[in-house]
Amino acid sequence: MTDAILYDVPKPGVAHIVLNRADTRNAQDTAFLYSLNEAMDRAAHDDSVKVIVLSANGPHFSSGHDLREADGHGNMAKHDTVGTWTGFGKPGAEAQYAREQEIYLGFCERWRNIPKPTLALVHGKVIAGGLMLMWPCDLIVAAEDTEFLDHTVAMGVGGAEFFAHPWEMGIRKAKEFLFTADWLTAQEAHRIGMVNHVVPRAELEAFGLAMAERIAQKPLFALKLVKQAVNAAQDAQGRVSAMQTSFALHHLAHAHNMLVHNKLIDPTGLMAGAKKPQRAAE
Ligand code: ZN
Repeated sequence: MTDAILYDVPKPGVAHIVLNRADTRNAQDTAFLYSLNEAMDRAAHDDSVKVIVLSANGPHFSSGHDLREADGHGNMAKHDTVGTWTGFGKPGAEAQYAREQEIYLGFCERWRNIPKPTLALVHGKVIAGGLMLMWPCDLIVAAEDTEFLDHTVAMGVGGAEFFAHPWEMGIRKAKEFLFTADWLTAQEAHRIGMVNHVVPRAELEAFGLAMAERIAQKPLFALKLVKQAVNAAQDAQGRVSAMQTSFALHHLAHAHNMLVHNKLIDPTGLMAGAKKPQRAAE
């Protein structure tokens, strides 16, 4: 594990994983995601750990995927892959499809199914791929200053790779969020049920760790079973097959952008600014 991801057990039964690439606002490159996955595996495999808390150092939870990574495909060779996809050096659309199967959709699905409660503590900005670190968690607590954004449509791609938007936001709000690429406040996210609690920034960690500690007092096997039961209810609504469809459409957009712009995203879309977040009057 690198120092980009920190791991600690601050309370009995509670593992705390911290995104620690503050200088890049926790932008996610290949090494960062493998390191995070390693920390998730460590907590999952440790029978003394009952709850996993994920939070971030720095001004923002995560600015999303690190678009400045020079050789994402080449860097795949530096890591032992977790899934069964290969071909990270292949030409055409194959390498990108394989890479995103492994480190985006694959990792998110893997973390979503860890048989222990997971709790994300978010603050600052959570942008596009940043949502893919918090949405796989079972519970989310947001600091009052948190703002969420998915501007992938503005960049010529239909939503982040782990397309949980319809389940996290509801159909109508998900469409507005994606079509407009406007910011969503913590208060609005709470109103639509996307986050469990909104707390002052200074209280975020203490609130989250206390909640994790309460959960860790329950029998782990029952926690595992009830998590599986709720996840099964969500999957019975077609989550997995819908996500596979949206992932394929996401890659149609990548392939299209490569043909038209010679980039995975439409560079002209980055000029489209998002509206300033509307503060809810509460
Ligand atoms: Zn992608």
